[in-house]
Amino acid sequence: MRTPTPAQLLQVWERGGDPSAAARGLLLLGCSCDEYSAEARAALPLGRRDALLLELRERLFGAEIAAVASCPACAAAVEATFRCDDLRLAEPDAAAPVLEHASHGGIRVRFRLPDSSDLLALEQCGDAQAARGLLLERCVLATEGGTGSRDVRELPYDVQMEIAQAMARADPQADLQLAFRCPDCGHGWQPAFDVARFLWQELHAWALHMLRDVDTLAYAYHWREADILALSPRRRQAYLELCAP
Ligand SMILES: [Zn+2]
Repeated sequence: MRTPTPAQLLQVWERGGDPSAAARGLLLLGCSCDEYSAEARAALPLGRRDALLLELRERLFGAEIAAVASCPACAAAVEATFRCDDLRLAEPDAAAPVLEHASHGGIRVRFRLPDSSDLLALEQCGDAQAARGLLLERCVLATEGGTGSRDVRELPYDVQMEIAQAMARADPQADLQLAFRCPDCGHGWQPAFDVARFLWQELHAWALHMLRDVDTLAYAYHWREADILALSPRRRQAYLELCAP
């Protein structure tokens, strides 16, 4: 992994104006993970993608994450601080297809872990049922045993749910939950933490801030945007202070 330059980050932000969270995740990997081809990045299991995005987050904005959530019991705003390391789990055993057993009727299901290309494909689905069916169709490699249809979309509902749970268990990094406790009422809860979405929000705030700085310096010194972006953060800050009214 490499740390993208401010100019590259702004390009990523610019290209990610409309795309979905899945597409934005791929844009973020694209500017930092040269060790993978574009196809390989799209085929990374989501947990591996999220581990890389956590590493990128630490490089760009530091190891500490301050999260704010609203208490579901009393609606108080609750702040909690995490470190990227707290959110990093051990990698699953194998990137190769995982063998799990669905108990229903002795059916055995072999599947692969969902990746970004699956998320992009699911965006076309109208509802949750259609999305689950398509995800199973894409990720289930083989079903053995049991009786009846081999069409994964026609598997009993509880088997479909069991496969979805097995996928989540097999790739826990893709299914992160934070631990919050409300200081006002004592309520505890575990909101999901979506690294890709969180990092994109941070990038968006960073980009708006950076463009404001560019605007200020370009106005004051008539420098080009590329030259301002190429300044070190410290030097840029020093010039900003010099030209402050
Ligand atoms: Zn509360």
